[in-house]
Amino acid sequence: TQSKLPGTGTNIFSVMSKLAEEHKAINLSQGFPDYEADPKLIEYVADAMKQGFNQYAPMTGLPVLRELIAEKMNHLYSADYHPETEVTVTAGGTQAIFTALNAYINAGDEVIIFEPAYDCYAPTIKMLGGLVKPYQLAPPNYEIDWEMVKKLFSANTKMIILNSPQNPTGCVLSEKDIKALIKLTKNTDIMILSDEVYEHIIFDGKKHQSVALYPELRERSFIVASFGKLLHTTGWKLGYCLAPEALMKEFRKVHQFNVFSVNTPMQLGVAKYLKDPQSYLGLSAFFQQKRDLFRSLLAETKFKLLPCNGSYFQCVSYEHLSDEKDVAMAERLIKEYGVASIPVSAFYIRNTDHHVLRFCFAKKQETLEKAVERLVKL
Ligand code: PMP
Ligand code: GLN
Repeated sequence: TQSKLPGTGTNIFSVMSKLAEEHKAINLSQGFPDYEADPKLIEYVADAMKQGFNQYAPMTGLPVLRELIAEKMNHLYSADYHPETEVTVTAGGTQAIFTALNAYINAGDEVIIFEPAYDCYAPTIKMLGGLVKPYQLAPPNYEIDWEMVKKLFSANTKMIILNSPQNPTGCVLSEKDIKALIKLTKNTDIMILSDEVYEHIIFDGKKHQSVALYPELRERSFIVASFGKLLHTTGWKLGYCLAPEALMKEFRKVHQFNVFSVNTPMQLGVAKYLKDPQSYLGLSAFFQQKRDLFRSLLAETKFKLLPCNGSYFQCVSYEHLSDEKDVAMAERLIKEYGVASIPVSAFYIRNTDHHVLRFCFAKKQETLEKAVERLVKL
């Protein structure tokens, strides 16, 4: 029988993390912290388990957590999402993306994505019989020319996926970008899937341009968020989705048969933790310190640093050093230098020859220092 995803192999994060382990390399490839989450948070989750909160949560998520999410949206973006009808707790951002796409994408629908794009978008669209319309961004600045985006529009354009701050480039959308998008999609039914999992990791005083800030977009948008990024707990696979009631109704029809509900004690523990907004407000400062340190260390290597305005990823170009394809270069860095990265070509559908690698800096200072000690030898 025919594969639903011919040409798709194992995702790049699994491949690179495995190779890093085999070669005992410092793993700056897959994005996850190598330090512990706040012990208080762990304690809250453990307490919930010990207190017997170990059975199914409501299908849409625990009310106490949905209410706090709605409060957070109100506090940060003055956006009203009704906790009962417009907020759903998911098994990470990935499941929220999968579910939103499943709820709306039919065979022949076109979805515009901005490449380099996070790896789960395109295969999910393809599985549904949708067509991926990639807009290719290019280093060093990965800027969007909205007039060119317009050229991708057709009568079948169903959805646009945004991701700001963007994985892997660290680029963030500006107010000007959003205004251009509003102008382009005015008087259309084009939906937006806004992947905002790095909303709290944005640097140099920049303001996160959530689609929640713009009523014209909000009314036809899904917003995806991840507690893995917010709380340094990627292994918990906990996130949420926000959308206006009519969209959320369709989302939940899929969600109930996709995972039904998400684990109870973590939802309770996270809710207790989020009661204090300080638990997330300091995240940008925390990561800016890491970004600044990592960039100053990398300045001693031969790599050319690309801009990083958000997320916990730093991209570097080695175009001036070698013609080697990025996958080969990333493998060589693991085997010969003991440092794992992600080749950015993995985030494009078509072949590119950009010679760019992505490093994750959600790591302890000593990990970053050790990694760069090895990279300076290149
Ligand atoms: N979107 C982006 C851009 C991401 O980087 C990630 C995590 N790597 C996700 C979605 C998925 O988030 P989660 O781990 O919560 O499923
Ligand atoms: N989001 C993480 C990254 O970009 C990894 C997620 C995953 O392993 N699927 O590295």
